Amino acid sequence: MIEYERIIDISQPVSSRSSRFPGDVPFSRQVTVSYRDSGVINLTALTMSPHVGTHTDAPIHCYGELADGKDTAGTLPLEPYLGPAAVIDIAPFRDAIHPQHVKEKLERLAPFPARVLFRTNQEISYEVFEETYAHFSVELVDYLAAHGVVLVGIDTPSADHAKSKTLAAHHALIKAGIYWLENLDLAKAAEGEYFLVALPLKFMELEASPVRAVLLAGSLADR
Ligand SMILES: [Zn+2]
Repeated sequence: MIEYERIIDISQPVSSRSSRFPGDVPFSRQVTVSYRDSGVINLTALTMSPHVGTHTDAPIHCYGELADGKDTAGTLPLEPYLGPAAVIDIAPFRDAIHPQHVKEKLERLAPFPARVLFRTNQEISYEVFEETYAHFSVELVDYLAAHGVVLVGIDTPSADHAKSKTLAAHHALIKAGIYWLENLDLAKAAEGEYFLVALPLKFMELEASPVRAVLLAGSLADR
C-alpha cells in the first residue's frame, strides 16, 4: 500500500491560453452539443498537439512511420511513469544540464533515484513560450542511464533546446531506454523524494500523450 500525506499537482493547465511549441497546434474546443440547446448534455470535441501542457513523448516522435502503429503513446510501458522519484532543484537554470550541475545532489541520495525530475523554474508561465529554457545534454542522459534511471522529467517544453534539429537528447534517451516528461510545473515541489504518478493515455495512433502528473508526498510505504 502507498501511504502519503498530500498530493502535489505538477501538471500545467491545458486551455486555449496554453502556450505551445512554435508550429504546434494549440488547444481548441468545439461545443458539439450544449446543455442550453439540448436540455440534456454539454458535449465537446477538442483539437490540440499532444505536446501542449504536461506530456510524455513516445519514441515514434523522433523516428519511423506513424502508420506502422509501433512505439506510439499507447504502447508505452507504465512502470516508468509510476514509482519513487526525486525532484532536483537547480532553478533558475536556462541552459543544457550537464552531470556536474546535478551530480552532487543526486549522489547524496541512496539509492540513486530511478526517476529524476529537474526543477529549473521557480515559477511557470504556461501561457508563454520561452525560447531559452533548460534541457538535457547527452552527457547527462548517459550519466543517468549508467545509474539505472528509467524516467526523467523537466519543467520546460522539451528535452532538447528549441532550435535543435538533431534532437540529440531525445535520441540519447530512447537509446538508453529512459522515458521522459516535458512541461511539468515543479514550482510547488521542493527538492526531495516523492512517489510519481504520471500515466500516459492509451493513444494508439499518437506520438505523445498528455499526462496528469502528481507527486505523492509524505510517508511513503513500500519503497
Ligand atoms: Zn513533446
